[in-house]
Amino acid sequence: MNIDAPRPPIADQKIAVVGAGCAGLAAARTLQDGGARVTVFDKSRGVGGRMATRRIDDRRFDHGAQFFTARGEAFQDRVAGLQAGGALAPWLARWGHYDGARLQALAIDEPRFVGVNGMSTVPQALATGLHIVLNAEITDLSRANERWNLDCATDADTTGFDAVILAVPSPQAVPLLTGITDFAADVAAATYAPCWAVMARFASQLPLGYDAISLDDGVIRWAARNGSKPGFAAGSETWVLHATPEWSLANIEESADAVGDILVDHFQQLFGIAQVPDHTVAHRWRYALVVASAGEPFFWDPILKIGACGDWCLGPRVEAAFDSGLALARHLIGPAT
Ligand SMILES: Cc1cc2nc3c(=O)[nH]c(=O)nc-3n(C[C@H](O)[C@H](O)[C@H](O)COP(=O)(O)OP(=O)(O)OC[C@H]3O[C@@H](n4cnc5c(N)ncnc54)[C@H](O)[C@@H]3O)c2cc1C
Repeated sequence: MNIDAPRPPIADQKIAVVGAGCAGLAAARTLQDGGARVTVFDKSRGVGGRMATRRIDDRRFDHGAQFFTARGEAFQDRVAGLQAGGALAPWLARWGHYDGARLQALAIDEPRFVGVNGMSTVPQALATGLHIVLNAEITDLSRANERWNLDCATDADTTGFDAVILAVPSPQAVPLLTGITDFAADVAAATYAPCWAVMARFASQLPLGYDAISLDDGVIRWAARNGSKPGFAAGSETWVLHATPEWSLANIEESADAVGDILVDHFQQLFGIAQVPDHTVAHRWRYALVVASAGEPFFWDPILKIGACGDWCLGPRVEAAFDSGLALARHLIGPAT
C-alpha cells in the first residue's frame, strides 16, 4: 500500500538508500538528480546485486541475471543511453531450447541485453557519480529527532537521514521494517525462489551449436556460453548452468562442491558431452527470482519517511527492479512544477 500525503521538497534532503542493486541505483540516481543528498549502502564488495559478474582466474562469469529486456519507455531510454555509452549491448547469441528430447533453435522476438565485459558493467555505469559505501551491511534502523540512524559497522556517516529507502530483497527488508511500519506485512508477502548457479570452464568448445539454452528439465533450466557475450574473450569456453527453482530448493543446503559436480554431470549426460571442465564453482542465490510479487511498484510511509522497492514489488526481472526504484524516487520528488 502506498500512502499518499503532501510531500516536502526533496532538494537538500539527506537520504539513505540501502542496496546498490538495479532498484537502489535507479532510486538513488533519480533522487540525486532531483537535488537530494544521497548515500547508498551495500553489504557487498561491489555494486549490482544480482546483476553480477564473477572473476575466476582469468575468466569472467555472469552467474546471476543472464540478460534483460527493455519493454517500458523509462527503461528503454536508460538502456539506450547506456548502450550509447558502451556499457551494454544486445547479446547476439545462438538461442536454443531443449524440450526434454531435442535441442532446437529458438526464435526470439525482442532484443536481449547484457553488460559489455560482464553484467556488472551495467550497475557500475548506473552508479557513476553516486556516493556509495560498500562492505556496509545495515543491521538495524532507529529514529531520533525525526531523523533516521542506521546500524552498520562502517566509518561512513550513518546518522541523521531525513528518509531511508530499502532496496533489498523482501526477506532481507522484513527484519529491518518489522515493528517500524505497517507495510512490513505487505513486504513479507512477496516471495522468492532460490537458484544454484554453476560456473564451469572447459578447455575447448563444446559441440552444442548454441550459446544460450533454456531447458524443460527437472534439474537444469538454463545453460549459457559466457564467451559468446559482448566483450568476453572469443573462444573462452565458460558456461553458466542454472538449476531449476524446484531442484535448487530441494538441495538448498547441499555443499557447493557437490552441486557443481551434480549439475555438470547432468549437463554432460543431457547433451552427450565427453569433455570434463577443468574448473567448476557453484554459487547459491537464496533469493534469486520473484515468485509472488507485492503487486505495487513501491512502498512508502510518508509519516516516518521510510520506503521500500525492488524486483519483489513487480516481478522477477531487471526492468522490474529499475521501474520500482524509479517509481519510488519519482514519488518522493513529486510532480514537476
Ligand atoms: C540466477 C539468477 C538469474 C536471473 N536471470 C535474470 C534474467 O535473465 N533476466 C532478468 O531480467 N532478471 C534476471 N534475474 C533477476 C534480476 O537479477 C533481479 O530481478 C534484479 O537484479 C534485482 O535487482 P534489485 O535491485 O531489486 O535487487 P538486488 O540485485 O538483489 O540488490 C539488492 C542489494 O542489496 C544488498 N543488501 C541486501 N541486504 C542488505 C543490507 N542489510 N545492508 C546493505 N546491503 C544489503 C545486496 O548486497 C544487493 O547488492 C536473475 C536473478 C538470478 C539470481
